[in-house]
Amino acid sequence: MKAAVVTSFTAPLEIQERAVPQPGAGQVLIRLETCGLCHTDIHAAHGDWPVKPQPPFVPGHEGIGIVEELGSGVTERTVGERVAIPWLGSACGECRFCIDGRETLCERQQNSGYSIDGAFAEYAVASARFVVPVPDGLSSLDAAPLSCAGVTTYKAIKVAHVQPTERVAVFGVGGLGHLAVQYARIVGGSVIAVDIEDEKLDLATELGAEHVVNAAKVDPVAAIQALGGADVAVVLAASPRVFEQAFSSLNRGGRLICVALPADQEMSVSIFETVLKGISIIGSIVGTRQDLAEVFALHAAGHTRIIAETRRLEQVNEAIAEVLSGKVLARLVFEY
Ligand code: ZN
Ligand code: ZN
Repeated sequence: MKAAVVTSFTAPLEIQERAVPQPGAGQVLIRLETCGLCHTDIHAAHGDWPVKPQPPFVPGHEGIGIVEELGSGVTERTVGERVAIPWLGSACGECRFCIDGRETLCERQQNSGYSIDGAFAEYAVASARFVVPVPDGLSSLDAAPLSCAGVTTYKAIKVAHVQPTERVAVFGVGGLGHLAVQYARIVGGSVIAVDIEDEKLDLATELGAEHVVNAAKVDPVAAIQALGGADVAVVLAASPRVFEQAFSSLNRGGRLICVALPADQEMSVSIFETVLKGISIIGSIVGTRQDLAEVFALHAAGHTRIIAETRRLEQVNEAIAEVLSGKVLARLVFEY
């Protein structure tokens, strides 16, 4: 099978011919149909974060495919079923976070395409318990971005506890942002989209944003304050400066939802403002299997739209360059 492999943090990915992996106990073998390219895959390939993956490894955590084979002891899935391989490759199932529904905080979790091989390949093995069934009425092309970009922004809106009519500023309208706009609208929020590309802001308007702000042309803090300020700011742009702008655009009682993971990790916010304005600063990391099931159900019911373009796996390095250029409207998805 073909796989895109990170061999070192300073080299381009290599397309390698590898043996089809065999599912171990509790695992399934999946023949992949699609896999989205997430910014996290690029951070993984470059070794940008404090906890680094170990080359050689196969990135990819928006994989959609068909179960071809069951490992020993698997009763959860059946051959022929279509499933998603999300970022949460597995969790222990026993710690207090797993037990109370916060499995994405499990300290013994494995992450697809990071600590274990992911879905930038024609086949992958994955935990039978942690792959998520993809309902009918959802294309594999749409299901891929929903598996990370979708569930991550859906969860961000959930933890923000957006109330109807509250103003939600979405900083960064790309693969994640175009979905954040839609989830904020679904729960009754009024959306202000912030980006530096007019084309992306037009997309945000098309997807229901009430206001847009081009941060390359105007000061986004002043622009959002002029609109009455934000009650929730979701930060999807990987720059500490943007986090600070998002914080400064908040109203009293506001919530700063931190989602992006910049390589440069320090941000500076005023403690005085945080206390006096009663501001909450909240980190939100992907979503649970249940969150993803809800994301799929919303899409199958016609409540969300995916903007994506397809690429071949052989184009992986060009695709990464395209994403880094900031010119990709929303998501790139590899089709096998
Ligand atoms: Zn991702
Ligand atoms: Zn656990």
